[in-house]
Amino acid sequence: MSSFSQTELRYTLTDLEPVIDAATMDKHYNKHHKAYVDNLNAATNNNGQTLEQIFSNSNSELSTPAIRNNGGGHYNHELYWDILSPTSTLSPITDKSIAIIDKLIAQYGSLDSVKDQVVAAGMGRFGSGWVWVSINPTTKDLFISSTPNQDNPLMNLPEIQQGIPVIGLDVWEHAYYLKYQNLRKDYLEAVWTLLDWNRINARYEEAIK
Ligand code: MN
Repeated sequence: MSSFSQTELRYTLTDLEPVIDAATMDKHYNKHHKAYVDNLNAATNNNGQTLEQIFSNSNSELSTPAIRNNGGGHYNHELYWDILSPTSTLSPITDKSIAIIDKLIAQYGSLDSVKDQVVAAGMGRFGSGWVWVSINPTTKDLFISSTPNQDNPLMNLPEIQQGIPVIGLDVWEHAYYLKYQNLRKDYLEAVWTLLDWNRINARYEEAIK
């Protein structure tokens, strides 16, 4: 029995073009993400725990590399697909007050400054990994970080800055290489334009309750 499955995309494989091309979407969603789910289901003992529960306990299946890598792979991609939208459906971020944007501007000065720091964090990640904007669960402040491989800020591991991620951007080469080749910075700056701030804000509002 499979416990974990991919959420269907809210958009078609071509809808994120020209920022993310359909070939990349197809390989990324139908092959890479699917493989994480298949491998996770093969590795887990199916005891009904959610990924969040597994990540929060360092003595759980999180200590099993196949669970850490494939569970992270599944969670991270679910977040990534969910917070992106075709530019045609994005509402202008200036048309109303969005709480997380107000918070980011209060902390970082401007949204451009946030983007620059996210891009820098992504560029600073050697090899494969992710860049995050997360909520510090104690202070409710936001922070920018990056993790290697398929790790994420929910993982209760000493080397990871703990938080609740609301933005996660994939900096594995499989996320961008077909279109951007080695130009990770160009990919990060382009994918930033696909961020659906209403969806990100919904995660933020839920997490700070
Ligand atoms: Mn990926």
